[in-house]
Amino acid sequence: MTKIEEVEQAKSCIQHIIHKTPIIHSRSLQEKWGRRVFFKAEHLQKTGSFKIRGAANAVTNAVSAGATLVTAASSGNHGQAVAYVASELGIASVIVVPTDASAAKVAAIKAYGGQVEYCGTTSAERIPHAKSLAHQQGGVYIPPYDHDDIIAGQGTAGLEIIEQMPETDIIVVPVGGGGLISGILTAVKAKRPDVLVIGAEPALANDTAVSLKRGEITAIGPTETIADGLRTSQPGDLTFPVVSGLLDGLVLVEEHEIIEAMHDIAVRTKQVVEPSGAVAAAAVMAGKAGAPGRTIVAVISGGNVGLARFAELMSTMETG
Ligand SMILES: *Cc1c(COP(=O)(O)O)cnc(C)c1O
Repeated sequence: MTKIEEVEQAKSCIQHIIHKTPIIHSRSLQEKWGRRVFFKAEHLQKTGSFKIRGAANAVTNAVSAGATLVTAASSGNHGQAVAYVASELGIASVIVVPTDASAAKVAAIKAYGGQVEYCGTTSAERIPHAKSLAHQQGGVYIPPYDHDDIIAGQGTAGLEIIEQMPETDIIVVPVGGGGLISGILTAVKAKRPDVLVIGAEPALANDTAVSLKRGEITAIGPTETIADGLRTSQPGDLTFPVVSGLLDGLVLVEEHEIIEAMHDIAVRTKQVVEPSGAVAAAAVMAGKAGAPGRTIVAVISGGNVGLARFAELMSTMETG
């Protein structure tokens, strides 16, 4: 299991690569939602999501071990983060993306200096390919969540929250493969065991909820949640024990709640956040995580959404 010392080491290892993101607040949003809520603004992080924290830690360790190439299997935030960090550290990266990856995502990876390779449409095809590319060329494959270096890197967001907002009572975190929440749990439960950590998952991608209920890692079928960063089919071998051992609660949010939270955040705080990034906030908005009078920090995990897609999602909202 990832240790607090590893999170602290990650913090000093990555601090010259990442931003210490602000915590933002809106009085009018707080009044509308009836909760004393603050946002850890990882959509303002370099590359637009927290994924760079784990990527910076894992790629730095790979470079220290002599690697001159890293690979990843993701067209989303993880792939962009790995490409960016590899360029910063002066090594090559190959990011394996599905054949149907959006042109915008591929362009972002290339702009960060990553080489793009297309392979299949499922992660079951992409991951072995990314691993074998690394293997053939003496490189290192960087997984998106199920690795100690990744978990430790993501945990630095937890260290920042308790430093920036010592009065925090409850932290709400979106859950995909569980790297972010495992890192935050590792940091927060070591430093401030009195702070509650609550996970939030889309009801359409409830693999961690199902796994916790059954007491073992359980896969769900393909899901179409708009929160595309949370579409993992099951929690990780390393993340699940952390989550099942330390988590204070897990709540499910509906698709329309995610859209409504994106809307309220845009109107009240002027911030554009992606669907996955709004899931923890949606749980607070819906009254599912946190309680009146408690100080809540919801992690906004990313902001990578095109404006056309953002507008499309807003247009589906019931207005009244
Ligand atoms: C990857 C990602 C998540 C989920 O993180 P896990 O470590 O897989 O649980 C949440 N939000 C955004 C924006 C992401 O990119």
